[in-house]
Amino acid sequence: MKYTTSADRLVVVNPATGAEFGSAPIMSAEEVAELAARGRVAQRKWEALGFDGRAVVLRRMQSWLADHANELIDVVQQETGRIFEDTALEIGYPLAALGFWADHAGKYLRDKRIPATSPLLLGKRLRSRYLPHGLVGVIAPWNFPITIGFGDSIPALAAGNAVILKPSEITPLSIEIVRRGLLECGMPPDVFQVATGAGPTGAALVDVADMIMFTGSTATGRKIGVRAAERLIPCSLELGGKDPMIVLADANIERAVNLTVYGAMVNSGQVCLSTERVYVEAPVYDEFVAKIVEKVSALRQGAPVAPGAVDVGAIISPAQIDIIDSQVKDAVAKGATVLTGGEQLTGVPGRFYRPTVLVDVDHTMSCMIDETFGPLIPIMKVDSAEQAIALANDCRYGLAATIVTRDRAKGAALARKIEAGSVSVNDIVTHCFALDLPMGGVKTSGIGTRHSEDGIRKFCKKQAILVGRSFPNRDLHMYPTNP
Ligand code: NAD
Repeated sequence: MKYTTSADRLVVVNPATGAEFGSAPIMSAEEVAELAARGRVAQRKWEALGFDGRAVVLRRMQSWLADHANELIDVVQQETGRIFEDTALEIGYPLAALGFWADHAGKYLRDKRIPATSPLLLGKRLRSRYLPHGLVGVIAPWNFPITIGFGDSIPALAAGNAVILKPSEITPLSIEIVRRGLLECGMPPDVFQVATGAGPTGAALVDVADMIMFTGSTATGRKIGVRAAERLIPCSLELGGKDPMIVLADANIERAVNLTVYGAMVNSGQVCLSTERVYVEAPVYDEFVAKIVEKVSALRQGAPVAPGAVDVGAIISPAQIDIIDSQVKDAVAKGATVLTGGEQLTGVPGRFYRPTVLVDVDHTMSCMIDETFGPLIPIMKVDSAEQAIALANDCRYGLAATIVTRDRAKGAALARKIEAGSVSVNDIVTHCFALDLPMGGVKTSGIGTRHSEDGIRKFCKKQAILVGRSFPNRDLHMYPTNP
């Protein structure tokens, strides 16, 4: 079990200290249905505000969030055991998304007049419309309770939907601050509601919502996709990843090292876009590995006392520690070498896994094919860029990838050969902030798109209206009246 309960409540424990921090109710299916009924009533008022009225509330929320950043960061830190710098990302993303969707929702969703392209349509007026689904269920993971939970709710709300957010059972508390903020910013009551609980509460939400926006593991996403198909409601699935980093022989090694260490260690490696495996061309392999080991072994770990105090925070749950440790043990048993780390940190109250570098790895090992979600850098030597691309694509996931090279044109050309929803050249997580770029997974990393026009149109149903002439004309087949 990944979470703790006491009677009918979820008990939240700070993973960095082991201290109990708070609790939240486990909502039943009946309670979720009640929230849904209230949400549907509130949605009509919210939709009636129009794009401009809703944008006013979203922009007010931007200022509110900036004013309440410290309160939110404090609660997220306690829920997740993260360091301050990683937690601050939870403010940066929603600030950007609130502004972006306030500005762009109308642009992407307003009724559009469509030109008639066929002679059959001459004289007719064509219009396309985007209408909110009504009640959107957002189901979120624990690794970014605000960025993902609230971040995914913003375009749904901007489109005129009511939202019920089901946060992870591990991090159910921080989102309550956001709910309070939206009310203070003038959002009508019940437009944004929170349903706390574990898997069954999420399943109850899938049973009542008009559309589901899910982010989490591939295994859960598959179950939700099946249930949504049974109900014939749309769902958007953002799932797991096993992102490769490819370091070419001409790379700036300092940049490659910094990208790899940040990509693998941010949020203790518990990011869907984490760097999870590294392929390095032979001429620079030794230098790259030496510098990675030097940097990783100097990382400071521990409970996040203050900004700048530690580099790598806690691991969310005992189950997650077991996954990381079993991958390391599997690799070592099959011939891999641990250059630093390779074990759980002991002698501290919280749950930490030592930042780890593995070499002599290959694709028979779980650490190269299964999602790790931990501070682990497995590095493999390759003979060519083509071999690196083939290995990068030898994976059931396809979320994101990075290529490091001084030759930007070559990097951009190679990016097209990678089977992943997002590919960066000489860059990494900033992709999340490119809100005009579509972002989503391929293969088992998901079905659906965040950001760009697709990232808001998915929260709408489409309607086409054709208005023809009101007098008889020759565009219809005239049946003989007297056969
Ligand atoms: P999870 O799948 O265990 O849980 C996610 C959410 O689904 C939780 O709120 C959980 O309570 C709920 N849930 C569980 N069973 C359910 C059911 N049957 N019906 C409805 N809801 C149910 O995932 P997690 O451990 O919280 O998060 C980690 C995973 O999320 C990783 O695989 C990671 O890659 C993925 N993730 C993906 C992205 C992305 O954008 N692609 C972003 C962040 C995390």
